[in-house]
Amino acid sequence: MARVEIVAELCKSCGYCIKFCPKKVLDYGKNVNSKGYEYVVSVNDDCVACCSCARMCPAGAINVYK
Ligand code: SF4
Ligand code: SF4
Repeated sequence: MARVEIVAELCKSCGYCIKFCPKKVLDYGKNVNSKGYEYVVSVNDDCVACCSCARMCPAGAINVYK
């Protein structure tokens, strides 16, 4: 099953992945990482492994598994 993983410590909270996910899988979580960024989490199981989020992420914080 397709799955997306956000590496919390690398996320810079830019929001690109949230904006470009066609399935609305990603959103800001309620926690911050050690640098103070409110990192992104997956909020549903609808990922289709299109990799749009991973391509957009400037921090290399997203891994997609098919
Ligand atoms: S791989 Fe595609 S569907 Fe899955 S979270 Fe990223 S943008 Fe959304
Ligand atoms: S695109 Fe990358 S750095 Fe930006 S919010 Fe998403 S996971 Fe964080």
